[in-house]
Amino acid sequence: MTPEQIKRLIEAVAKTVVAEADRLTALDQAIGDGDHGLNMKRGFEAVLADIGGLSRKPLPDAIKAVGTHLVMKVGGASGPLYGTLFLTLGKELPAEPALADFAKAFAAAFDAVKARGKSDLGQKTMLDVLGPVRDALATAPADSQLGDRIKRVATEAAEATVNMKAIRGRASFLGDRSIGHMDPGACSSALMIAAVVDTLEKA
Ligand code: ADP
Ligand code: MG
Repeated sequence: MTPEQIKRLIEAVAKTVVAEADRLTALDQAIGDGDHGLNMKRGFEAVLADIGGLSRKPLPDAIKAVGTHLVMKVGGASGPLYGTLFLTLGKELPAEPALADFAKAFAAAFDAVKARGKSDLGQKTMLDVLGPVRDALATAPADSQLGDRIKRVATEAAEATVNMKAIRGRASFLGDRSIGHMDPGACSSALMIAAVVDTLEKA
């Protein structure tokens, strides 16, 4: 990927998160401590501030460096988890990834987040979006519908967290009262995945 393509990709993810920060905060106000939007905005503003340096790196190193910014700036539970996600993607992806490379890297990143969070599917976390997207990437034919399918899977998976009871993270303190609200981390994951798909489709 060219520096310009890498810049567009990282910028799209970062700007989406910054633009949707209020929505993420509102979700976290319902079942957490109301900081998810602010946490993520802080992290991705640091990414945007370094966009020149990031886009001069080969794709794997650029993604790893995004992970490092997130680890250092996001904080909360989501900072180390999203840091792990991006660091693992950067470690696993080649400089010019094909669909099979994305599928393999995403599967490794899912496993790494799961290990780091000591969490699993069905616990009302970001994993409940990352898991279905991993599965869709692994089984999807690389046709013209692929991007739409991945976005639909991510959006529906985030919606499906509404009816789940939180077993991990701050929302688990609410027990049954966590039911009826979308998980903030599931929402941020779906937003970032949609931004990646939209940018890669235009590239
Ligand atoms: P905090 O909960 O520390 O305030 P954030 O509000 O930034 O951190 O992030 C909350 C999100 O992090 C949750 O919505 C959930 O998706 C995710 N999360 C929290 N704990 C875990 C975990 N153990 N495994 C996976 N994801 C988690
Ligand atoms: Mg929070």
